[in-house]
Amino acid sequence: MSATVIAITNQKGGVGKTTTAVNLAFYLAKANKRVLLIDFDPQGNATSGLGVNKQNLEKTVIDCIADDLPLSQAALPSRHKNLFIVPAVSHLANTEVELARAEKRFSRLKMAVEKINGDYDLVLIDCPPSLSLLTVNGLIASNYVLLPVQAEFYALEGLGQLLETMQLVRKGLNPTLELLGVVLTMLDTRTSLGRQVYDEIKRHFPKKIFETTIPRNVRLAEAPSHGLPVGAYDRWSKGARAYKALAKELAGRL
Ligand code: ADP
Ligand code: MG
Repeated sequence: MSATVIAITNQKGGVGKTTTAVNLAFYLAKANKRVLLIDFDPQGNATSGLGVNKQNLEKTVIDCIADDLPLSQAALPSRHKNLFIVPAVSHLANTEVELARAEKRFSRLKMAVEKINGDYDLVLIDCPPSLSLLTVNGLIASNYVLLPVQAEFYALEGLGQLLETMQLVRKGLNPTLELLGVVLTMLDTRTSLGRQVYDEIKRHFPKKIFETTIPRNVRLAEAPSHGLPVGAYDRWSKGARAYKALAKELAGRL
């Protein structure tokens, strides 16, 4: 059986993509799925967020998309059972530029993912904050898109562009790409703005918005500096409980 592949994407930076990728990966692995997290952002935040030292890495995602190295050979075990990571380093940005001239430049990651076979149940791709060639590779390689949206006044701005890109991908190289869901992140429960943003997103995506929302929680921001998912750093924090609930709700949609 082949793995289910989910791209976590939003072309805005700082909306909680990586936090969502790392913590969902952790809780899905805890629920006995074999999970591969692919760090696909040159910033490599998912890599360091799982405690992987970016110095002296032998293999990274670059080898998988530029040299056809099987993902399983670049994957490192994390400190957590069932959770593996394909690391990224800043040089991925140069690779992206080089790929722009390569053959099959849009489906490099898809080709890599297709070779996974039964090694993993779920693959999560942490995309960069742009609608770049890397993100398009992520969309073409995936069955689903998970869209984290920050609970702020301009939350929906720019999403039209992402949805258009998804539409183009569907018309082209990946006709079955589907929006799995929209999750509201960094919700400040003390203000009414959060509720308004939730309602507005619900109007736009009535069937897709997750009931679970992610609160603003300092533990979520602290955990990566310890190289840990929040569930291993402070499992009873509000942030941890929210991501655990999100993992459950998301698994129910697969
Ligand atoms: P992206 O990957 O979309 O750029 P990140 O997940 O890296 O976004 O989040 C941006 C910053 O906000 C990071 O410093 C992260 O630790 C912090 N952060 C993310 N989600 C939350 C949250 N729910 N509460 C508090 N801080 C958060
Ligand atoms: Mg990120």
